[in-house]
Amino acid sequence: FFTNDYKNSTSAKYYYNLNGGDSEWEVSNSNTLLFANLSPGNYTLKVKAITQHGISTEEACVDFTIKRSFWISNLAIFIYVIIIAIIIYLQINKLKKLDQLVNKRTQELRGEMKKNKQLFEKIIAFEKNKNNYFVNMSHELRTPLNVLNGLNQLIKGLSKKDTFITPDKLSYYMEVMERNCSRLLSLINNLIDYAKIENNSYTLNKKDENIVYLVEEIVLDMKDYIEGKGIDLIFDTDTEEKEISCDKLEIERCIVNLLGNAVKFTPEGGLIEVLIQDLKDKVKISVKDSGIGIPEEKQSMIFDKFNQVIDDSSKQKNGSGLGLTITKHLIDLHGGEIYVESKVGEGSEFIIILPVNNN
Ligand code: ADP
Repeated sequence: FFTNDYKNSTSAKYYYNLNGGDSEWEVSNSNTLLFANLSPGNYTLKVKAITQHGISTEEACVDFTIKRSFWISNLAIFIYVIIIAIIIYLQINKLKKLDQLVNKRTQELRGEMKKNKQLFEKIIAFEKNKNNYFVNMSHELRTPLNVLNGLNQLIKGLSKKDTFITPDKLSYYMEVMERNCSRLLSLINNLIDYAKIENNSYTLNKKDENIVYLVEEIVLDMKDYIEGKGIDLIFDTDTEEKEISCDKLEIERCIVNLLGNAVKFTPEGGLIEVLIQDLKDKVKISVKDSGIGIPEEKQSMIFDKFNQVIDDSSKQKNGSGLGLTITKHLIDLHGGEIYVESKVGEGSEFIIILPVNNN
């Protein structure tokens, strides 16, 4: 700022007042003022001078505004509020999602626990069945052993008394012993095979075989036995030759088992049919009887001995009860399937489907 007296600007005295009352005038010898660190706001700077001749000038006024820095401006505060609101919203959202995830996971865990519980109960039932089965099996093993022991005692007693045993009686005793021995052997073999299959240590010896010839041979071998029981036997096939890769002995065992069951459960005067059908890449073997049939609720259990419902009243009769269980496992090992269609009082049909090539 300058007075009119430009020449002597340094000899004048300057008075200034920034936003103050009349008593707050400051004095300066310089006609330049420097304000630093003024807070934001509106200011009025008043300046007057007294020249070297003592003449006071008029007050000059300058209004000016120190703006706030952007980071504390209204817009900035507004932006801060928006950002904080967004962060809070995102956090709440995140929490909600986390909550949903926890709920979902809890639900899943509950489901898994339920499944595990069911599985656990199934295993317990399975173990109970197994136990039940082995108890029955022990009785089954004891019966032929008791018969053999009894005969042994009888023959020993007779020979001690020097009693003569007629050849007829001897051959009868031998027959009984033979029957009981083979029954014991069959029970024990079935048990061993089942254990092997369970351990996956059962191996097939597969070769290319004419399945029609193989089945026909078995039927012919059993023809006399079946017809001797007063049951008619029919063998029918729609093809003369069908080569499939299979273990001859094991397939033989399956068919013998099905035929044996058919004979066991078909009364005199009944009919057993063995049918073969060529399904191109598969072959269907069916063993059908006109016997007593199998109730529907039992049909799904007969292939899985240890998954059967525990029935304390059921006693093992004339069989290990493992025949179909082993048959199913053997057919599974061949990559095939076995199922039954049956009606009580009308008969049963056991159907085996074997793939031609199952390597
Ligand atoms: P088992 O060696 O004791 O005969 P299987 O596993 O061969 O045992 O058969 C299991 C059960 O399935 C039999 O006890 C019988 O109740 C039923 N079953 C099997 N085949 C027939 C059939 N052809 N007719 C009626 N019931 C059958």
